[in-house]
Amino acid sequence: MAENSLSSRLQMAMRRLTGKGYLNENDIDEMMREVRLSLLEADVNFKVVKTFIANIKEQAVGEKILKGLNPGQQVVKIVHDELKRVMGQDAEGIRYNINGITTIMTIGLQGSGKTTAIGKLGAYIRKAEKKKVMFIAADVYRPAAIEQLNTIGKQIDIEVFEQGLIDARDIVKNGLKYARENDYDVVIIDTAGRLHIDEKMMQELIDVKQIAQPNEILLTVDAMTGQDAANIAKSFHEQLNATGAILTKLDGDTRGGAALSIKEVSGIPIKFASSGEKMDSFEMFHPERMASRILGMGDVLTLIEKATESIDEDEAKNMMEKLMSNTFNYNDLLKQFKMIKKMGSMSKILGFIPGMGQLKNAASQVDDKQFEQMGVLIHSMTEAERKDPTLIDKSSRRRERIAKGSGMKVADLNKLRQALETQKKMMKQMMNMDERQLESLSKNPSQ
Ligand code: GDP
Repeated sequence: MAENSLSSRLQMAMRRLTGKGYLNENDIDEMMREVRLSLLEADVNFKVVKTFIANIKEQAVGEKILKGLNPGQQVVKIVHDELKRVMGQDAEGIRYNINGITTIMTIGLQGSGKTTAIGKLGAYIRKAEKKKVMFIAADVYRPAAIEQLNTIGKQIDIEVFEQGLIDARDIVKNGLKYARENDYDVVIIDTAGRLHIDEKMMQELIDVKQIAQPNEILLTVDAMTGQDAANIAKSFHEQLNATGAILTKLDGDTRGGAALSIKEVSGIPIKFASSGEKMDSFEMFHPERMASRILGMGDVLTLIEKATESIDEDEAKNMMEKLMSNTFNYNDLLKQFKMIKKMGSMSKILGFIPGMGQLKNAASQVDDKQFEQMGVLIHSMTEAERKDPTLIDKSSRRRERIAKGSGMKVADLNKLRQALETQKKMMKQMMNMDERQLESLSKNPSQ
């Protein structure tokens, strides 16, 4: 979502303010107009927008802010905090049952990404909590739904309890009994999805809730449907009292309307964000981090989490130290390529880094193939050359030898050299930005 137009428009509106030494009410009004328009265009519910704007205005126009130090940055903080508030303040995970099986009932319209999300949630819980997870296939209206859950279950090695197309209530009863007998810790129930909410489906869901007494009722909502998602959530919530939402398809062409409307319109907090076809592209939803991402402040915490999940921690620390001390060499670059590959695409990673959102498009052109080519070039260097890039800079004979050895051109080698420099520069920039931001936030806590 960070790359969408909401994000870039808000960033632009904010940038205009931060460039100014002082602000007057006109500046604020102008910024508010821009913020209001960008929210409406992102398909945020109009009532949410109205409250959002009123809250910001109330806080931003006070004497304290306008006449205070760094007024622009203070307003950015106000907008940031308001974004966070709208999305639900603190991240909320699953509330596990300490004395027995934790039951999670999933609900959602057909096509909202429910089955995929069940798979991801199961894999997530198993990995993060080391719990034994089972699925119950109780979407009995589409044979394909059971088949799909079976396929996902096999793919991630999670058992699926199924009894074909008999009454969903019986399947849930039997499934829970089976889970107890087989020492499962967490059971995730798939339920009937329809294209639209209808009474029969709702009644069945109410019955299943009654039988399962779930610890969590998670609603999957498609982020691409904008504020409609919030209205759908409201209807489900009125009847079933959901405990959280899983926002799906965040990798698609989302405009932000869903993320910013659901909590305010329906009352359901977003607990998880799901963003792709891969089973591990699933994370807890942190309103604070999402607000930072939207405003282009990056989301270093998520990046670090991702890194520590897929990378050896000492190795990552070592690399950071090298980057910061400016001794980053080709060996390190090679290691970094490998890390990036493990973490996902370069463009995704850049979205988490402060100020780097805009580079994402350019970076998405750096594909795996290019990484591989750069790897081949590095492999045709001697150990001394890898450790000391200046050796190559000083000698055209070395450059020619390396290019020839790798079957590539000297120009390719020059690009690689640039990549090394860019890494160093980016890291410097990131460190500076972070410091500045942190400094301004600590100097100007919300007033
Ligand atoms: P269900 O009908 O609610 O169970 O939805 P499915 O899980 O079958 O998903 C519907 C379609 O959306 C499928 O084609 C999925 O591959 C796709 N899908 C699900 N989650 C995501 C996601 O996070 N990102 C993207 N791009 N596609 C998704």
